[in-house]
Amino acid sequence: MNAAADIPRHAAILLAAGASSRLGQPKQLLALDGEPLLRRAARALLATAPAELVVVLGHDAERLHAALAGLPLRTCVALDHAEGLAASLRAGLAALAPDCAGALVALTDQPALAAAHLCALRDAWRAAPRRAVASAYAGVLGVPALLPRAWFDELMRLHGDTGARSLLRTRAGEVTALAAPALAHDLDTPAQCAATPGVTSMTMPFDPTPHRSASGFDLTPPSADERERLAARLTPEQRYVLFEHGTERPFCGGLLDEHGEGVFACRLCGLPLFRSETKFDSGTGWPSFFTPFDPAHVRAIRDTSHGMVRTEIRCARCDSHLGHVFPDGPPPTGLRYCMNGAALAFTAAPE
Ligand SMILES: [Zn+2]
Repeated sequence: MNAAADIPRHAAILLAAGASSRLGQPKQLLALDGEPLLRRAARALLATAPAELVVVLGHDAERLHAALAGLPLRTCVALDHAEGLAASLRAGLAALAPDCAGALVALTDQPALAAAHLCALRDAWRAAPRRAVASAYAGVLGVPALLPRAWFDELMRLHGDTGARSLLRTRAGEVTALAAPALAHDLDTPAQCAATPGVTSMTMPFDPTPHRSASGFDLTPPSADERERLAARLTPEQRYVLFEHGTERPFCGGLLDEHGEGVFACRLCGLPLFRSETKFDSGTGWPSFFTPFDPAHVRAIRDTSHGMVRTEIRCARCDSHLGHVFPDGPPPTGLRYCMNGAALAFTAAPE
C-alpha cells in the first residue's frame, strides 16, 4: 500500500439548479470579475483535486452547461429541482461514484467562495474523515462543507428546501467548524448584487463560444460602421440577394462558370465559404457545392417562405443570405449548397 492510497478521497458537488426567482435572471451566470459565478465555483472546487466534480443543474440547464465548457467535470440534471435544495443534493449524491469517502458540497451564490478555504476544509477533513467539516458564518454552520459518506443515507432522505445545513445542526457534535465570515454574503437580490464589488455585466450571459473557427477565421460579426462601409461597395443585385433574401435568375450569375482553383468567400464580409474542389455542375443554373469551407462558416436556418420548407444558408459571420442547401447533392455529403453567385466573391489560388 502506498501513501497516496491512505489519503481519503473526496468528491465535489456543486449545486446550481436553482431558479433565482428573486433576481429575475440565473444568478449562476452573473459575472464576478468577468467570469460567471458558476464557472468560478466549479474551478474553486476543482482546485481541491476531487476524485470527480458533479455539477447539479436544473433551471436553465442548457445555458449553464455552456458556461462550464472545457472544465473536467460531469453535470447531472435534478428533474425535481423545483422542490428545493434537497432534491439537488440528492441528485448530486446519487451521481457520485461509490468509492469516494466524502462529498464537498458548495453553492454558486457565495461570491467569497475561494479555493483556499475549500482546500482548508478538505485538509481538515482528511485529518479526521469520519467527521464533517463545515464553514461557520453568520452564527451557523453551512456550506461549503465536506460531508462523510456515513451521512449520505440521511442526506438522501432530506426533502424540500432543506439542505446540508439541517444535518450540520442536528449532528453538530460530529462537525469541525472553519470560520469563513465572508461567506455570509450571498447574491439573492439585485441590492445584494449591487453591493458586491466586482459583480459586473449582470445582463450579459457568459458566452464561452470561441469566435474563431477551427480553420482559424475570426467569426466576430462586423460592427454597424464596418457593415455600412462594406455594403457601400455592393451592386444593387448583391444587396438584394444578401440583405433581402433575394434569388438571382438562374444561369445569370457570374460565378456559375468559374472553374478555376480557389476560394469562394462571402461577398459582404470576405469569410471563406466554399473551396473550388467542392464545386460541381448541378444543372440548376446556380453555383453548387457539396460541402462548405468550414462547417462553422455557414449557418442553416429553416425557411418556410414561398410555400416551401427549405434550409436557408447564411454567412456565419455577417448573417447575409447566401442561398439554400438541399439533400440531393453528390457524394460524399449528398448535399447541394445552391448559392447565389451574387453572394460570393471568388479568389483564385496563387499559381
Ligand atoms: Zn459574410
